[in-house]
Amino acid sequence: MTALLPIIVSLLLFPVASCLTPEEPTFFSAATLQNDGINFPIHDRPRPRPIRRGDIDPKSGVDSPSLNHVNYGKDGHPYEQVQRYYQQRRLSTEHDYDTKNSSEDDNATGRILQEAQSLFQPLRIHFDMTELDLWSMQSTYTAQRVEYLTKQVLPQMAKAWSSALSVVRVMENLRIDYNSCPFGDPQRSPSFSEQGVPNADLVIYVTANSEVCYRGSSKTLASAFSCFWDQFARPIAGTIDFCLDAIDLTSIDQLSAPTNSGGGGGDVLNPEADKSLQLAVGSAVHELAHVLGVTSADMIFFYDSTTGLRRTLNPQMAEVICIDGQLRELYVPDKSVLQEKVSKQGVRFFEVTLPTVRQVVRNQFNCQTLTGAPLENQPSSEAECFGSHFEERYFFTENLSAVQGGVPEILSSLTLGLLHDSGWYKPDYSVAKVSVFGHGAGCEFVEENCIVNGEVPSYSEGSFCNTEYKIEGNKFLGSYGCDPTHTGMGVCDLVDFSQLSMAYTPPPPEFRYFPGAPSLGALTTRADYCPTYTVNAVTCKQVPGKLEQMKLPILDYFATAAESDSDSSRCFNTDQQRPVCLEAECDAVNHVLNVKVAGRELLCSYDGQTHLIPDTGVTFECPKLAIVCPE
Ligand SMILES: [Zn+2]
Repeated sequence: MTALLPIIVSLLLFPVASCLTPEEPTFFSAATLQNDGINFPIHDRPRPRPIRRGDIDPKSGVDSPSLNHVNYGKDGHPYEQVQRYYQQRRLSTEHDYDTKNSSEDDNATGRILQEAQSLFQPLRIHFDMTELDLWSMQSTYTAQRVEYLTKQVLPQMAKAWSSALSVVRVMENLRIDYNSCPFGDPQRSPSFSEQGVPNADLVIYVTANSEVCYRGSSKTLASAFSCFWDQFARPIAGTIDFCLDAIDLTSIDQLSAPTNSGGGGGDVLNPEADKSLQLAVGSAVHELAHVLGVTSADMIFFYDSTTGLRRTLNPQMAEVICIDGQLRELYVPDKSVLQEKVSKQGVRFFEVTLPTVRQVVRNQFNCQTLTGAPLENQPSSEAECFGSHFEERYFFTENLSAVQGGVPEILSSLTLGLLHDSGWYKPDYSVAKVSVFGHGAGCEFVEENCIVNGEVPSYSEGSFCNTEYKIEGNKFLGSYGCDPTHTGMGVCDLVDFSQLSMAYTPPPPEFRYFPGAPSLGALTTRADYCPTYTVNAVTCKQVPGKLEQMKLPILDYFATAAESDSDSSRCFNTDQQRPVCLEAECDAVNHVLNVKVAGRELLCSYDGQTHLIPDTGVTFECPKLAIVCPE
């Protein structure tokens, strides 16, 4: 358990906000607007161009007209208090006072910022549903999806963020300019009115089916951006757009259907509905993070909560080769925020070098020499230069990587750490879960190739795989393995790109891992073509009840009978054609995993230990404990 120590250290370094109760979101619904004679299709609605973060000059100070003054109470925002202190110092010293590096200043500002900690309260989100209301009037099809978003997805997303983040509470009603955020209803949305929205720190205009939904070949679930900021450049309004066609209707039907595995009745979802809902909530959580500040263009506006000052004090223009290969002249964040890097393999990327982010990444991989968190080196939208997601190849199970799906993803301390380092939020790290992908796997996991000479090196075990996925005639050739989270199983997504259509881009030279086979690479290309067990993925909750529908290989009868679909069921690789899902419990005191099989308890006390399932010829292997028992 070498990973244990750095985790304890991280808890000491970043004190947890003292268990604040999350705030319920508020909704503005335009149900009252029904007979208003809206007579153009919503997707043709004339809309001015919204203001985007990239439109704001990074040199603009607190008094800039592109930022908007918000009332933070009688003493003001802690950063206002710090600025007042410097002003007074300047007035009280006879001589020109422009350096602020005296320890006296550090002590004074540190005390101000420390005393202001209580001003941070759980984030309150106000959803403007005007546009979704219009969509729900279009057809039963759209109405069902809007209801699903309103009743399930948005409240769960709001709860996740309100539990995770606190902000300096806004002390007046929030007013937003329609010309910056041309969403909702300019006449009736309360956020555009003279009066404003009460009890809100962030206004979100929920829209649907923007042109992003119909662009490109891959299925977009949702998109989002911020469009209005306070005087400290914190986003106070934004929009989130859902692609209604991407919402899985079958799961909505099943949502209210009774389930036989629930036991005590109540609102227990069946495994498929649960999986779809988790995916939808996960993508909503992901999109809101972009509004909150996780984007390429936001980082230059970040504040340092230990000084109350901008991290990039004097933004400079520079010529940068962006991740799409284009040379652009743009403002570049300070080196303490972001740096350009080149990997051992010669791949260029940008790395977030913020202090909390750096420490979380070091702890995550148990490698104290890492300098930061690599951002995705393959572009995900036209506007970004540095990348707006964490690199898929390292942060596969993290919500803020670019690709979602396949395996369950979690809101991690990495994402909360980045938002912490923005200076706009105070996170509660106890809400975060551990991203198990590569957890505790060491420096080699980050610095070396995922696959070496076609083989899976020990640091990649449990994360990457090397067997090809093929269909010959009616026969599927490939191999099942536990997915990287060990909560389900899938087929290794390694394919031969020369056998696929031209629509697929084969691996470039730096991402070829199989000598003599340059066209072999993962279908998940964003993970730098590193293969994972994620094709035909099924969760352990689905496996036992649905063996036939899943078309999983058959195991010994008694091995199948020993499988479990409970919440604590975990995936174990076997010496057979597929893994098994067995009831398992982490014993944090003794650092072992208790596996319950056919009424017996078997102990996993070290990585790779093997056991025979009683009364069968099936041997299963204990996974890395840092992955299955990350806490
Ligand atoms: Zn994204």
